[in-house]
Amino acid sequence: MTVNRLRDLPPLREVIARHGLSAQKALGQNFLLDGQLLDRIARVPGPLAGETVYEVGPGPGGLTRALLGAGARVVAVERDPRCLAPLGELAEASGGRLRVIDGDALAVDERAEAGEGAHIAANLPYNVGTALFVRWLTTVDWPPWWRSLTLMFQKEVAERIVAKPGSAAYGRLAVLAQWRARPSIAFTVHRSAFVPPPKVMSAIIHVVPAEAPEGVAVRTIESLTAAAFGQRRKMLRQSLKGLPGALDALAQTGIDPERRAETLSVEEYVAVARAMEGRRAA
Ligand code: SAM
Repeated sequence: MTVNRLRDLPPLREVIARHGLSAQKALGQNFLLDGQLLDRIARVPGPLAGETVYEVGPGPGGLTRALLGAGARVVAVERDPRCLAPLGELAEASGGRLRVIDGDALAVDERAEAGEGAHIAANLPYNVGTALFVRWLTTVDWPPWWRSLTLMFQKEVAERIVAKPGSAAYGRLAVLAQWRARPSIAFTVHRSAFVPPPKVMSAIIHVVPAEAPEGVAVRTIESLTAAAFGQRRKMLRQSLKGLPGALDALAQTGIDPERRAETLSVEEYVAVARAMEGRRAA
């Protein structure tokens, strides 16, 4: 019954025209209107019947429709007040499975709003997306409150998230994403899929939490990678010299201080961070 009411909704183009949702650059608005593509994105987290999804930036509601169509309950936060009326119509058609928060995702306590075990899905502007991604990856509690992340990024950013050591794309984002989670590129999305089309290609990133290595605090990994990749062309001996305990930790783990940041594996960063923690505790 509810699914049928969702199917009876007018096409997204009509919703956008009726509510005057001309895309605003300042809000990073590039809308997705292709139902098949949106359903494909909604399948990335796995079966959603009875699951909760926290969606950031639903806009006119294309991805929201697909998530609701897959049987999810959705809590969505949107900053553009023009989108609230069409999202209200969608909430009505969903039979109470969509709750919309009018606000800025950077200021929302999403854990309290969505609840433990929610999946996160979003097609977000680049700057907001990266800030939230880092926030979700650096929660102190692990496993985190969220079950999976399904996020649209510029393809170049997606490649940085899954990058392997030794590549130009490998950096802080790769280590933060890979030290206790498994990120993968689900598929790439051609720029022509968006209205209006952005300048670059995009990709959907899927992340599931993995077991956290013991004896390593998030803040240590964060400060270590910030120092190492902050001067990525320099030898570690130079880039880590301002970070208390880091050079001793390198010596303890047998890592040559003449190496550069991009040559260390994620496991080596974890080992150095663990040695730093050990020295602090001693
Ligand atoms: N999800 C829709 C889609 O796929 O067609 C819209 C995607 S559009 C790229 C990004 C959406 O995020 C816009 O609706 C924009 O208003 C919203 N947005 C931008 N910054 C936001 C923020 N800080 N908090 C919440 N929503 C935001």
